[in-house]
Amino acid sequence: LPQEFVGAQPILATLEAAGYEAYFVGGSVRDTILGKPIHDVDIATSAYPEEVKALFKRTVDTGIEHGTVMILDHGNGYETTTFRTESGYQDYRRPDKVTFVRHLEDDLKRRDFTINALALRQDGEVIDLFDGLSDLKAGVIRAVGDPEARFGEDALRMMRAVRFASQLNFNIEAKTLAAIHTHAHLLSQIAVERIHDEFVRMMLGTAAYRGLTVMIQTTLADYCPGLVGHTIDLSTIATVPELAPKNEVEVWAMVAFHLGLSYPDTVEFLQAWKTANHIIKSANQALHLAYAQQYHGVTKQLLFAMTPDTIAAGTNVARMSGYGPDDPNEWLTLYNALPIQDPHDLAVSGADLIKKMGLTPGPAVGETLQKVQNAVIDGKVNNDVDALLKYVQEKILTTDDAS
Ligand code: ATP
Ligand code: MG
Repeated sequence: LPQEFVGAQPILATLEAAGYEAYFVGGSVRDTILGKPIHDVDIATSAYPEEVKALFKRTVDTGIEHGTVMILDHGNGYETTTFRTESGYQDYRRPDKVTFVRHLEDDLKRRDFTINALALRQDGEVIDLFDGLSDLKAGVIRAVGDPEARFGEDALRMMRAVRFASQLNFNIEAKTLAAIHTHAHLLSQIAVERIHDEFVRMMLGTAAYRGLTVMIQTTLADYCPGLVGHTIDLSTIATVPELAPKNEVEVWAMVAFHLGLSYPDTVEFLQAWKTANHIIKSANQALHLAYAQQYHGVTKQLLFAMTPDTIAAGTNVARMSGYGPDDPNEWLTLYNALPIQDPHDLAVSGADLIKKMGLTPGPAVGETLQKVQNAVIDGKVNNDVDALLKYVQEKILTTDDAS
């Protein structure tokens, strides 16, 4: 057992000693069997929340109405959830009613996919009631039970299927796939934030092309913000030979680039996806670099307006899309070699121009500073006070007077 499970073994042992059942469940079991690193360990138990709380000294009610109690132990927190069934998915998303039950099978039945419905005892025995192990081995995502019913209950599961297909490089089983097609329209019932989360995780997965292909085939993409009518653009992304965005900024810059969005349209598009503002800002910068690389060339002025992170993102988006540069560090190197990286690095300030050059306070000061800054970036003048003041006198003020 991986270290994360070993640390939690005493918790399962305590529950069992008190006469309850307790298992590791969910993604950590799946990922362990696949030999992948795990993040959070989920525990399921036949004990009711109050019974769990009575057994452990330190607990936190993290989601007690759903049966989840966090048990604190040696600086670690373990989410422990009572076996439960769900019913009454009136709005195609969350269940109206959660019922605590004593049988593991009922709890595993409500889970989305067979590979996510495995349970692991603390002694290492795997409980596999829905052939999840053979699906794991074969690389198949299959709904637990009737896929039509399962997507009708909770439409987010369709995006989860797509996300797991990409993360695990798995195929979606035929009936499950067909059911996604027939229920795709229900995605419009799901909060955009939750679709956003799954979409980004899908794009960051190792086989994003699978996820994208399924989203196109099943029409799921048509129920995502701003993607309807963009099937061809999305398939272009899906066929990128080395599709490997490194972070959310690269995901969105890549999508906007292939959708051919303008900067204002990109902002609107990403706002419709409920993307965080700092991500929107960075994605737009990365997009700018990728477009520059494609159309009019990358300038020092453009690099100056960016950050090392957005330069790296824009470079990767351009390269994935087949627009170089050959050297992945080319733009970053050029950026690092700029005489200044930030307006504050400029050796003269507006106050200097007023005091030492006799400029009148007003818009002209900012304009002059801008020209000085551009000249420094382009290497036309050194960034030191005397050189800059001389430059202002000879190249800016004189030219302005003459014109
Ligand atoms: P990861 O944590 O790597 O994203 P996971 O499988 O652990 O993957 P979680 O969202 O953490 O996913 O959910 C934990 C478990 O809860 C899942 O493995 C699955 O059994 C169940 N589950 C989660 N969301 C749903 C859902 N919408 N419908 C049915 N079961 C679900
Ligand atoms: Mg999880």
